[in-house]
Amino acid sequence: MNNKIRNFIYGRYGIDDLYKLLLIICFILLVINMFLNNNIIRIIELLLIFIILYRSLSKNISRRKKENDKYLNIKNRIIKSFNYNKKKYEERNTHMYKKCPNCKQKIRLPLKKGKHTVKCPNCSYKFEVKCRKDEKIKVEIVK
Ligand SMILES: [Zn+2]
Repeated sequence: MNNKIRNFIYGRYGIDDLYKLLLIICFILLVINMFLNNNIIRIIELLLIFIILYRSLSKNISRRKKENDKYLNIKNRIIKSFNYNKKKYEERNTHMYKKCPNCKQKIRLPLKKGKHTVKCPNCSYKFEVKCRKDEKIKVEIVK
């Protein structure tokens, strides 16, 4: 019996981050549907469970890895964008954020009253920036 299970599991993909996300979504839908009792949500739940089982028992490991990498890429981009906007908001009284018109590099500039010429630290392109507050000007690349 134990050998049968071991043989069945051997070479299968298993659990990854996308698996966990789908499981969380499925659980949330399950809780929501306890109150709504909606058939469309029930179908989505079943579909998610099917995808979860299919992915974790799949023997096409490279393909499942690619799916998971895509998901992690999107997740990282969202987290990065969130952190960037959070920082931008927290520093709204001391710094401003501009994009280099040439290479689209995000640049962090302290607020300094007046018009200034900024040299992009990434591509050395020079462009004009208008500020409304007084402070020393210093150019920084934002990653
Ligand atoms: Zn640039």
